[in-house]
Amino acid sequence: MSQLVRPVTDLPVQGRRVFLRVDFNVPLTPAGGVADDSRIRASLPTIEYLLRRGARLIIGSHLGRPKGGPTPGMSLEPVGAKLAELIAPLAREVRLTDEPVGDGARKVVSELRDGQVVLLENLRFHPGEEANDDSFARALAAYAEVYVNDAFGTAHRAHASTVGMVRYIQDRGAGFLMLREIEFLSRLLGPVERPYVAVLGGAKVSDKIGVLENLLGRVDVLLLGGAMANTFLQAEGRRVGRSLVQPDKLTLARGFLRRASQSRVEVLLPQDVVVAPSPDSATGRTVAIDAIPDEEMVLDIGPATVQSFAERIRGARTLFWNGPLGVFEKAPFAQGTLGVARAVAECSGLTVVGGGDSAAAVSEAGVADRIRHVSTGGGASLEFIEGRTLPGIAALMAPPEAH
Ligand code: ADP
Ligand code: MG
Repeated sequence: MSQLVRPVTDLPVQGRRVFLRVDFNVPLTPAGGVADDSRIRASLPTIEYLLRRGARLIIGSHLGRPKGGPTPGMSLEPVGAKLAELIAPLAREVRLTDEPVGDGARKVVSELRDGQVVLLENLRFHPGEEANDDSFARALAAYAEVYVNDAFGTAHRAHASTVGMVRYIQDRGAGFLMLREIEFLSRLLGPVERPYVAVLGGAKVSDKIGVLENLLGRVDVLLLGGAMANTFLQAEGRRVGRSLVQPDKLTLARGFLRRASQSRVEVLLPQDVVVAPSPDSATGRTVAIDAIPDEEMVLDIGPATVQSFAERIRGARTLFWNGPLGVFEKAPFAQGTLGVARAVAECSGLTVVGGGDSAAAVSEAGVADRIRHVSTGGGASLEFIEGRTLPGIAALMAPPEAH
C-alpha cells in the first residue's frame, strides 16, 4: 500500500503553501497546558523537513470532541505554544488562527512567507469537519497547493481534513509518521519471517474479532489473554466465576477456536490466572485455570502463563501485540502485561505494538525504545490490521479530480 502513496519527499514544496494534517489531539493539564507532547513530537520530522525546504506551512488538527463549535478548553492555543517551543530554531513563531476557516484565517494564510507556520484553530470547531462537508473541505483546500497527511491516528475517519479536501489538491502525499505506520503495519499483513506470533488481549472479543479473523490465516501462534480470553475460556467449557464475559460472543469464540485448530494455528489460552473479588481489590492470588472461584474474577494472566507466552514471544521472528493481558492500570494486576512487554522487548524479530492502552503499557514498562514499532494510532492501527482500507490513506491514493 505504501508504494502507492507519495512520500512527502516526492512533493514540490519550496515556496508553496502546504496543508499538513497532523494528530495534535494531546491531553491537556487542568491548567490548560500540554500534559504530554509526544503526539506533537511524532510529527516534528515532517514539520522540520517542510520548513527546511521552504514550504509555507498550514497545520490542521483536531483536539478533543467539541460539538462542532468553539469550545472553551479545546483551543489549539497551548498546542501552538508548545509547537513554537519545539521548532524554535527553525521558525520564529506559530500563528494561530481564530477559527479553522473564515476571513481571519484566510488573511493569516495569505500573509504566510516561505518557512513560516500557521496553525489553524481546532478543525472540529466547525461542524463541517466531522460531517466531511464539501464546502468546508473546499475552504480548507483553497488554502494550499500541496496536501500532506501525517495524522495516522485519524486516518480511519472520513473527515473533511482527512478525506474531503484531498481530492481538490493535486500534489498530495504522506508525512514521515504516516509512512512509517503504513510501512510497519503493512509488513504484518504481507510475507513475514516465521514463526509469526500474535498476542491479543484487552477488554472485549467484539473489539478484537476483526483483528483475530484477519490474523488467523497469517500467524503461526496466537496468545490470548485479557478479559477477552475469558469468553474463549468459557467457550471451551471453563468456569470463569464473575469474570467479564461477553455471553453473546460464546458461539463466535467457539467457532473461531475450531477454525484455528483446523488451520493448524496454535492458540494458547491462560493456564493460570490472577483472581480477586474485584478490580479494586488490593491484592490478587494466582490459581490454576480449572480452579477459578465462583465468587471471584480473572484480572490478569498468572506467572506460568507469562512464562509460556514469553517463550513464544522471544522465539518469534515476527510479532504483533495488541491488548493488555490484565487490568494493568492496577498494580496487583499489571504483572502479566509488564511481563509480556519485557518479552516483546527481548524478541529480536520484527516487533510491532498497536492499540492505545497497549502503547501506554509499553511505555509504563519502560521498553518502548526496544520495540521496533509502537503505533501511534489506537483505533486506526487495529482497523489496519483488520485488513480494512483506511479512508485517510485511500484518499491519498485516489486519482486527483479535475475542479
Ligand atoms: P488497546 O487500547 O491496547 O486496544 P483495549 O482497550 O482493548 O486495549 O483493552 C484495555 C483494557 O482492558 C484495559 O482498560 C484493561 O484494564 C482491560 N482489561 C484487560 N484484562 C482485563 C480483565 N481480565 N478484566 C477486566 N478488564 C481487563
Ligand atoms: Mg483501549
